[in-house]
Amino acid sequence: MSVEETIKKLPKIEQHVHIVGSVRPETLLWLNKQGGLKLPYETLDDLKDFYAYTDFEHFLKVYSMVNGLITHEKYYETITYEMLQNQHNCNVKHVECIFSAYDHMHRGLDFADMVKYINRGITRARTEFGITCNIRVDVVRDYGPKIALMLLDQIKSKGDNVVSIDTGGMEDGIRPKTYEKVYQTAREQGLHLVAHQGEAAGVDYVWECVEYLRPERIGHGVAAAQDLKLLTELSHRGIGIETCPMSNLRTGAVQSLGEHPIRCFMEAGVKVSVNTDDPPMFATDMNTEYLMLHRELGFTVEELHNIGLDSIETSFIDETEKERLRKQFDSEYIKLV
Ligand SMILES: [Zn+2]
Repeated sequence: MSVEETIKKLPKIEQHVHIVGSVRPETLLWLNKQGGLKLPYETLDDLKDFYAYTDFEHFLKVYSMVNGLITHEKYYETITYEMLQNQHNCNVKHVECIFSAYDHMHRGLDFADMVKYINRGITRARTEFGITCNIRVDVVRDYGPKIALMLLDQIKSKGDNVVSIDTGGMEDGIRPKTYEKVYQTAREQGLHLVAHQGEAAGVDYVWECVEYLRPERIGHGVAAAQDLKLLTELSHRGIGIETCPMSNLRTGAVQSLGEHPIRCFMEAGVKVSVNTDDPPMFATDMNTEYLMLHRELGFTVEELHNIGLDSIETSFIDETEKERLRKQFDSEYIKLV
């Protein structure tokens, strides 16, 4: 078997994927026909222009238009199931998916109903493919901390399978400290903590996030590479980085994959995972991420397998589940090499 075929067959973990950012292009056209924004796109070819971003802000605008196509809670079952089917096709065993609830609640959709349909999609995928998945609610910085606290209340009473929170959306100009109380409250509720940081703003934002929000993982973290002292701090605190290499390339957070700091993170002792973020929107999937790391940054099969094992350690699952995955990863790996 070629190295590339072996890499595709490696068992994998996905810790950073947005459900809405995973909508298949065919499904997006179908949703568009159901009503919603009625975007002027009818064919898969039309969508190529739609997915061509000029920068991070432009990407967020496109993302918001896709959000607008979800006009009923029930669509969440289909898009969650299809997201997990795509992940299964890359031999992903466990997914921690991101749900930006308020993007839809301000359009009139109901939190509990959306969570119900997401869990239906998860249950269907688990029954058919054996893949597991938990949910993290991205409170989205743009909406402010009051909305975030309201979402924590929703999670408390109706957040079945919601295990963590996150702050995504606009980064530059919204100081992490603004969310200190939100993270403190979430911590008291027993939720795990993540923050998108160091993707579209500088290293000072990452420092502030670590100090005031005390997350367990950081999404992207690209800017952290500029400061070895910060990386050492992340390593000491056991904070993992959810790297999203192809996303960083497409939004311009890095100029080329060869410049991606994933190795720099690992050399400083930080546990990393490899993730797709918004797969069809960035023309990627987990196999592509792994293959690109192999081609552009020289990652070996063994190194990629070790990233998988590290990702199990930093996942928000209990020890029994971690042990089950470790055994499964090792037994599949041994058969491949
Ligand atoms: Zn993200």
